[in-house]
Amino acid sequence: MSTVKRAHNFNAGPSILPLPVLEQAQKELLDFKGTGMSVMEISHRSKEFETVMAEAEQDLRSLMGIPSNYKILFLQGGATLQFSMIPMNLRTVGGSADYVVTGSWSKSALKEAQKLGKTKTAFTAETENFNRIPKQDELKLDPEAAYLYFTSNETIHGVEFKNEPAAPAGVPLIVDTSSDFISRPMDVTKYGLIYAGAQKNAGPAGVVVTIIRDDLLERVPNNLPVMLDYKAQVAGGSMHNTPPCFAIYMVGLVFKWALGLGGLTEIQRRNEAKAGIVYKTIDESGGFYKGHAAADSRSNMNVTFRLPNEDTEKSFASEAKKLNMIGLAGHRSVGGMRASLYNALPLESAEALVEFMKDFQRRNG
Ligand SMILES: *Cc1c(COP(=O)(O)O)cnc(C)c1O
Repeated sequence: MSTVKRAHNFNAGPSILPLPVLEQAQKELLDFKGTGMSVMEISHRSKEFETVMAEAEQDLRSLMGIPSNYKILFLQGGATLQFSMIPMNLRTVGGSADYVVTGSWSKSALKEAQKLGKTKTAFTAETENFNRIPKQDELKLDPEAAYLYFTSNETIHGVEFKNEPAAPAGVPLIVDTSSDFISRPMDVTKYGLIYAGAQKNAGPAGVVVTIIRDDLLERVPNNLPVMLDYKAQVAGGSMHNTPPCFAIYMVGLVFKWALGLGGLTEIQRRNEAKAGIVYKTIDESGGFYKGHAAADSRSNMNVTFRLPNEDTEKSFASEAKKLNMIGLAGHRSVGGMRASLYNALPLESAEALVEFMKDFQRRNG
């Protein structure tokens, strides 16, 4: 174990990585597997890098239980490029796609899809400032939709689906799981496509993981620019061009770390423990701390809350920083505070936050 002083890192993204993963990368930086080179310096066509890719894919399959009729892609352009690639590839000609809008990220995804064709809004919580997840019977679903799109965790507003929405028969379900990827078990077979930008829960920025059911590849039109074409990316094994080699190596190490902890059930247990103590502190503060999300929609990844006024919020963030707690200011569009408690955040950091919250309230309440 390293003795380096590490921050209590509550950053929303890019965000904390597991210490053992960073240490492994450090150890291998100058000489990766006897090559005398780092992963950044070897050919993406080398045997060594092919092994990195193959293991990352295999480990993710075991971790999430991904069946063989799903392809795994490691792409670039971040989660935001998936906002465009999904409708370009999967919305059938003249067809419409359904979007569930529960926060900034699903709203942005809808906006991109609207530029390229027909969409319908199955639900939006915008007038309630995105403080909740819809119930199934609130969704206005088009039985003819090309797909139903939702965001399992809204990173900015701190609302998270406990269960996926049910799509009409034959309508593939698509999820942006960027900020709660590999944070809990999920039933992959319920989905047509699952994707996540790595830099919240799974690695550094620069790679997005897209998991796609292979029958959907038949929809891909044949006039797409090659880098935006899922079918071409599958055919090229995510290596039509030079992939983001180091980022893929890092997500691969994170998958191994997650498997080593005991997999997603254990990770979920840890995440619930961390979020549980922070929400408990909010609930027991007598209204000093106010959670943004409705109780049944609370995110285990991003805890959003407000203090009595903006001045106390400012001093909360700056005092926390002095105690080595970083990244607690909320997103500028929501204000208040946001504690991101991703997979790699140790329980001790959540405990330190809770202790500070109680102390701060005693002094300012
Ligand atoms: C951060 C985030 C995005 C955008 O990710 P980029 O990789 O920066 O494009 C999209 N969706 C969700 C849920 C996010 O948290």
